[in-house]
Amino acid sequence: MNLEKNLQIVNTNIAEACKLSNRNKKEISIIGVTKNVDLETTKNLIEKGIIHLGENRPIPFLEKHEAFKNITNKPIWHFIGNLQTRQVRKVINKIDYLHSLDRLSLAIEIEKYAEKEVKCFIQVNTSLEKTKQGIYPEEILDFIKNISIFKKIKIVGLMTMAPYTEDESILLNCFEKLKICLNKIKELDEYKFVSIGLSMGMSNDYKIAILKGATFIRLGTCLFE
Ligand SMILES: *Cc1c(COP(=O)(O)O)cnc(C)c1O
Repeated sequence: MNLEKNLQIVNTNIAEACKLSNRNKKEISIIGVTKNVDLETTKNLIEKGIIHLGENRPIPFLEKHEAFKNITNKPIWHFIGNLQTRQVRKVINKIDYLHSLDRLSLAIEIEKYAEKEVKCFIQVNTSLEKTKQGIYPEEILDFIKNISIFKKIKIVGLMTMAPYTEDESILLNCFEKLKICLNKIKELDEYKFVSIGLSMGMSNDYKIAILKGATFIRLGTCLFE
């Protein structure tokens, strides 16, 4: 693993995708997904300037959170996996962003245990695969309306996971669907002046996600391979 070299490649690819889509690369943040690496490697990543970190399971997240809670460049923690309602209490006050808000029962638990507002991405199932988490695209406006009563939940964007495929048309289609959902939300009065982003793109497809407007890309494999 050559972290420095891998980061260079990623940055070059981001710059290229931005050029193609007329975007400013400052609009895009890399979340280093550390779920498969140890504390040492995570520390190296932070030292290379990646401070947005993503974990998808409570126990490893809590371990890393504890290990890095007093360092100078404290990580900004993104919980990117399915969060079971009974696990909310343990993690909700230690994360900065939740990327997997996908049901009312989860919102209810967050409202119960969060001590301050939690920034949440609504997870949308754009590939329509049965195995994927997330609400369906056509449910987005009803879902937003239903969770608007929760004071502790601040919607900061939408998240999706595309299927693992090399077929660019499938990937483009998923990311396009998420962008359409975002545009629907922006038509709502209460979101007119709110900045909301798109959490989409992983190692395999982040260049395509950027073309469609990604603001957070979640990268694991391509950083640590
Ligand atoms: C593991 C994971 C990633 C990172 O995937 P890579 O293909 O390793 O880049 C991104 N998002 C979620 C939700 C994940 O679980």
